[in-house]
Amino acid sequence: MSQTVLKLSLNQINSMIREYAGSLADKTPPGAVFAAKAPGCSVTAYKSGKVLFQGTNHAAEAAKWGVSSATVKKDNQTKYVKPSQYAPPTGLYGVSHAGSDEAGTGDYFGPITVACAFVKENQIEQLRKIGVQDSKNLKDNRIRQIAKDIIALGIPYSLKVLHNPKYNDLQEKGWSQGKMKGMLHHYAINSLLEKIEGEKPRGIIIDQFAEPEVYKRYLLSESTTLQKNVFFLKKAESLSIAVAAGSIIARTAFVKHMDLLSNQLDMPIPKGASNLVDQAAANIINRYGEEKLYECAKVHFATTNKAKLLC
Ligand code: MN
Repeated sequence: MSQTVLKLSLNQINSMIREYAGSLADKTPPGAVFAAKAPGCSVTAYKSGKVLFQGTNHAAEAAKWGVSSATVKKDNQTKYVKPSQYAPPTGLYGVSHAGSDEAGTGDYFGPITVACAFVKENQIEQLRKIGVQDSKNLKDNRIRQIAKDIIALGIPYSLKVLHNPKYNDLQEKGWSQGKMKGMLHHYAINSLLEKIEGEKPRGIIIDQFAEPEVYKRYLLSESTTLQKNVFFLKKAESLSIAVAAGSIIARTAFVKHMDLLSNQLDMPIPKGASNLVDQAAANIINRYGEEKLYECAKVHFATTNKAKLLC
């Protein structure tokens, strides 16, 4: 059987739970932390840190989570995945560069937002001072404040928002969420480059969510190609202040849209994917009909069916 086994840290397994929030299995095998269904692949993580990817798409799915330490087993052969040629050059984090990150991908309700920010060398220190860092470590109110400060400093950025109706249309047309993210990053980078015309970032870092080759295939399927000097790095927010700024702007936009949704629907709309989210979706169906979910949620998540059972 074709499968990939990775050994990952608890932190990484926690981010996987966030990423697969929409498709977690109700039952897990003994010793497992979670089991989830990804496109063409089932994923099972064990308390030991072992994560099993099984199915036709096992290699690509596993590649999202482990590169350097990844051992790919296929038909009883073992080969090591090469470190990416797209890794940012050392030194890029300390000079003028752009960074792109997204929010909302693991949340049942609300859009996907992607922001790409350009930080000049002499602004890096300022951004650190106002608290720019990985938005995952910050509470939403703090994130909003920092986003205001980033904008007040005149940091150029571009923001792309994929609203739920369009998201659901694309999903029905066969787009994976990975492709949607890929195209949003691509368009965000294009818009940023237009905005800062004349100024050349030494590099553009995308917070890596897919193997660069997979990302490039997404672009190719939409008849476009990678811009110059684009690099990929996992958890880039912790090393690149531009990616961290992008993550804060993207998260702020996402949170604002969630507030808007709560107001429009006249009920609290929880983030993420959980029992609380299932219940909120059920409440929406009861009050407004199932079609309403198409306008405010990522309807292919397992949440939709769970909600229908709660109605
Ligand atoms: Mn990210």
